[in-house]
Order: sequence, then structure tokens, then C-alpha cells
Amino acid sequence: MPQVLNHPYTENDFLWLRGNLHTHTTNSDGVCSPQDTVDAYAALGHDFLMLSDHDCFTDPSELDPKGMVLIPGNEITGYGPHILHVNAHRRIMPDPDRQAIIEAIETDGGFCIVNHPSWTEEFNHCDQSLLEAWQGYLGIEICNGVGLRVEGNHLATDRWDRLLSQGRRVWGFANDDSHQEYDRGRVWIMVQAEKRNPGYIVRAMRQGRFYASTGVTIDAIRIEDGHTIVIESANTQAYRVIAEHGRCVAEVEEPVLRYRVGSGMAQQYLRIECFGQGARMAWTQPFFIEEA
Ligand SMILES: [Zn+2]
Ligand SMILES: [Zn+2]
Repeated sequence: MPQVLNHPYTENDFLWLRGNLHTHTTNSDGVCSPQDTVDAYAALGHDFLMLSDHDCFTDPSELDPKGMVLIPGNEITGYGPHILHVNAHRRIMPDPDRQAIIEAIETDGGFCIVNHPSWTEEFNHCDQSLLEAWQGYLGIEICNGVGLRVEGNHLATDRWDRLLSQGRRVWGFANDDSHQEYDRGRVWIMVQAEKRNPGYIVRAMRQGRFYASTGVTIDAIRIEDGHTIVIESANTQAYRVIAEHGRCVAEVEEPVLRYRVGSGMAQQYLRIECFGQGARMAWTQPFFIEEA
């Protein structure tokens, strides 16, 4: 049976924009004021930022964006696992029925990311059964920056692989979740967008046209000859190709990855992890293997 690789990236001459969607200020439990936080991210060179205070809508239209795109949002916190409300047009009140919240956010024109699933001493801020039951959220945080200094696992690629292996199509986000200066600029996403404005950035994220990073930069993502995944990255030292159930099917120590997907490969998806110097990494979105 002929197969095609379906993936979100484009070879068009789009911009790569760096941003963080998970940021706290003094409007909730952050240390710095909203404007000081915006100023700090602008100084880091971010292209876009979302202030996401706990159950509080910090209106970015009241701030000087300092050249960045400010995306309105908040973190729905009370009564259950934390959910990021991205592209918020109004504040949605916390409700223990998280499925109702997800639907309210979609109706409002925003989208949801389930945050830090493996936080806390139990490594289970959001149980896998909930991730599997809920419908309509766009993605999960596969890397949460503040998770590096609190209990639990800041990574959730295992949760992601479990969802993807069930045929769920959810994207992997990486966010600082910054509360103080130390947390800023540790974790981000690179969005491939036609223009540097909120509508194009939100649409690119909806379509999965981004990768997650803690310091590795991907220069090109493409398919050659219909069957070979090519990743170019000047600061990657090794790649892993991850398949269903988290299985690593290839490990390559080269600056350019060329992974040919054999005909009749019995996998639903492949995703690429890039390893750079020290603890630096990047994660692509999945390449879905579909019948032509
Ligand atoms: Zn949270
Ligand atoms: Zn948070």
C-alpha cells in the first residue's frame, strides 16, 4: 500500500518566530509586573509572548509590546488540571468540568494546551485517563520550564507518545511557565508563520507549524523524494527518530538527518528529537504516515 508523510511544516519562505505562551506576572503569582515581564522577554529577542496569569486575564492591549506580538490568554487553574487558554477574547471562569472549559475556549475562538501533565511528587498533575478522555484540546506541554525547579517531570513526551499511539493528533508545546527572572528564556517554541502578526501566529500553531526547543535551532524541515525526512540543524549533534509507544527506531550522530521511511512501515507516526550541546534539545511535531 503506497504511503504518504503528512506533516505540518512548509518549504515556503516563511518566518521562524520565537515565542512563549506561558508567563506569570504580579497579577497572579509572578514576581514582576506585566510591563516589566514584557520588557524582559523583548530584551531576550522573543517575537511573541502570552501573559497567562492564573485565572486572571491580563489585557495585553494596555501594555507597550516593545516590538513583540502579544497574544491574549490566561491559565485556567482552579478546580482541576491547569489548562492554557490561548488567544483569549474574554476570561473563561474555572470549572471542574474541563471538557466544558475546552469547548468554551473553542467557541471563544481560542485554543487549549494542557499544562505540565507530569508535575508534582506523584508525577501526575493531569492523569493520562483525562488526557485520553478530553476532546478538542490542541496540544500538551511536552516541556515546561519551571518544571526544572519543582517536583515532578518537566517533560511529558511519554504522555504525548501514548496519545499519538492511540491515533490522537495533538501538538507538543514547550513553555517557560516563568514566574521570575531565572525562568525566562529557558524553553520556547519556534513558529513557522507567513507574517509576524497574531492571526498568522495563532493559525500556524493551530496547524502544528512549530517545533519546541530548549536551545537547539532547526534550520530546515522537509521531505525529499516523498519518503525521506530531512532535518538540518547547525547546532544538533545527534537525532533520535521516535515512533509509536515512544520506541526509538534510529539514532544518528550527524548535523543533517536523512531518515527514509520504508514502504509498508507499520507505524502511524514518527517524530524527531534533536540533541545539542549540554542539555539543549528540540522536538519536531509528528510526521503522520498515511495511506496514499
Ligand atoms: Zn500551571
Ligand atoms: Zn503556569
